[in-house]
Amino acid sequence: MNLVLMGLPGAGKGTQADKIVDKYGVPHISTGDMFRAAINDGTALGLQAKSFIDKGELVPDEVTIGIVRERLMKDDCQGGFLLDGFPRTVAQAEALEQILTDMNKQLDYVIHIQVDQEILIERLTGRRICKSCGAAYHLIFNPPSQPDVCDRCGGELYQRPDDNAETVQNRLQVNVKQTQPLLDFYQEKGYLRNINGQQDINQVFVDVDKLLGDLQE
Ligand code: ADP
Ligand code: ADP
Ligand code: ZN
Repeated sequence: MNLVLMGLPGAGKGTQADKIVDKYGVPHISTGDMFRAAINDGTALGLQAKSFIDKGELVPDEVTIGIVRERLMKDDCQGGFLLDGFPRTVAQAEALEQILTDMNKQLDYVIHIQVDQEILIERLTGRRICKSCGAAYHLIFNPPSQPDVCDRCGGELYQRPDDNAETVQNRLQVNVKQTQPLLDFYQEKGYLRNINGQQDINQVFVDVDKLLGDLQE
């Protein structure tokens, strides 16, 4: 299965991605996670990305497209992949079409998780992330069983620096502007599937999983 997960910041992409990976074993390719790992490791890519991420702006297309191309060429993506947070612009979507054509592949679905903006602010400011495995929790909506400890791996939880109230506003604005043309692009290609993201986490996955079941047959 060749999948893209779309949705505004906080819509639940990472949360659903973990469930898809658990069930179907496809590699999870999150550009946000890749940038955060690079920042953590202090690489040149990390240095380049950090200033944009801290302000809630998008990292330039050339940089982002380059890392995705490199990642998709790896062996583990030959049997399928799950892109999360990429593409975010039409230029990125066009580049992805070209990369997949070069690989003799095409997308199956673009799964769009829909959530109203008012709800997203609450989700993002209450989000906590595991330092070790990247799993997302929420102080109210999805709390870990022990405060600040990851249920999955025992790692320590932290708040992403870009999940503060101020940066969140800008991220939402930036992403809202980019999203509609991207939805139109994928609607036209026939890949787009909308999912109601304002249900509880397990119910959202039931809906996502219904789509994926079709691909297994
Ligand atoms: P994204 O990857 O789209 O930015 P996340 O998966 O990190 O989003 O989810 C954002 C926050 O919202 C996290 O704190 C997560 O625990 C919480 N969350 C995810 N899905 C739901 C849901 N369906 N209902 C309530 N909270 C959710
Ligand atoms: P979110 O929870 O907002 O969906 P991500 O972890 O996907 O967050 O992304 C965090 C930040 O990384 C974004 O605000 C942006 O600065 C950068 N980023 C991630 N993916 C992309 C992309 N496809 N294009 C440009 N910038 C990106
Ligand atoms: Zn963990």
